[in-house]
Amino acid sequence: RAKGEGPGRSTIFDTSMHTQVRERIELEVALRQALASDQLHVAYQPLVRLETGIPVGAEALVRWLHPERGPIPPMTFIPIAEDAGLINEIGTWVRKEALRQLGVWRSQGVVRDDFYLSINVSPRQLTDPELPLIVSGEMLRYGVPAHCVALEMTESVMVDGSSVTSRVLFELRELGVKLLVDDFGTGFSALGYLRKFPVTGVKIDRSFVIGLGVNHEDDEIVRAVVAMSQALGLSVIAEGVETPLQREALWAVGVVNGQGWLWGAAVSAAEFAERWRDVMFRGPVVAEPVPNPS
Ligand code: C2E
Ligand code: MG
Ligand code: MG
Ligand code: MG
Repeated sequence: RAKGEGPGRSTIFDTSMHTQVRERIELEVALRQALASDQLHVAYQPLVRLETGIPVGAEALVRWLHPERGPIPPMTFIPIAEDAGLINEIGTWVRKEALRQLGVWRSQGVVRDDFYLSINVSPRQLTDPELPLIVSGEMLRYGVPAHCVALEMTESVMVDGSSVTSRVLFELRELGVKLLVDDFGTGFSALGYLRKFPVTGVKIDRSFVIGLGVNHEDDEIVRAVVAMSQALGLSVIAEGVETPLQREALWAVGVVNGQGWLWGAAVSAAEFAERWRDVMFRGPVVAEPVPNPS
């Protein structure tokens, strides 16, 4: 960003740049400490069936509670971690913690056998040729079968990825792990990568979900994504579902699974078990929506 701005801007600009740079450096130092001193934890948000509101899985989302500054959002610190070379360490910690937790939930009967955890991976993590071996070791260690694990990556991974990344993805898929395209539709790529890589599903970005039921174009875009996904045998999850209207609109265009505040935000592992265990075993929290009221 700074590179493209060119020299000789106003002092006000330089000052604010300076503040930003200092803020970044401070956060980088703090993040190294956070890793070493238990300030990171993982929150879990349900991935639900739209018709029943029953979770089929959960997304693991990293949280950072800074001792003085309070919670710092991942949108702030993940990019810093990526630039500072800390993302592998953070990503590894999140993945292990999430798989450990899933192993505990499975052994305690909190979740069903086919409940899966979806874990975000940064592009950088997928350049490690050892990753498939490491993940398979972790699954073994925590008693988690591969079909209960999904890895979420953005389109850029497949568009800009090296041949190493490609091999890593194929090996992960060979293990049986699901591979989901996160924030689907926000990249500016041709869709060719969906054929080239062993992707199993897409997560439709929230920006396409916001206007559903109100903005006709959004409905049509999502309808087209569903048609394409069905033709390619891909699963579809809608992100950021906040209203019943959005849920109805998703259902009407054929989306089966969703994630969003309508059902629940990401919460601690203990809260997740408390809130969702009975729902997963005993039944629906919402009535089945009617696809085409007539
Ligand atoms: P994402 O992977 O697309 O995750 C979904 C984000 O949408 C989460 O934000 C979630 O809390 C938020 N969200 C869920 N439902 C709703 C809703 O109904 N409305 C709205 N407005 N937002 C909703 P969060 O937890 O702040 O994470 C932001 C991003 O940070 C994630 O986007 C992901 O790209 C990244 N991230 C989070 N955890 C990790 C991680 O462990 N590793 C990596 N590499 N990235 C992570
Ligand atoms: Mg994600
Ligand atoms: Mg997402
Ligand atoms: Mg998103």
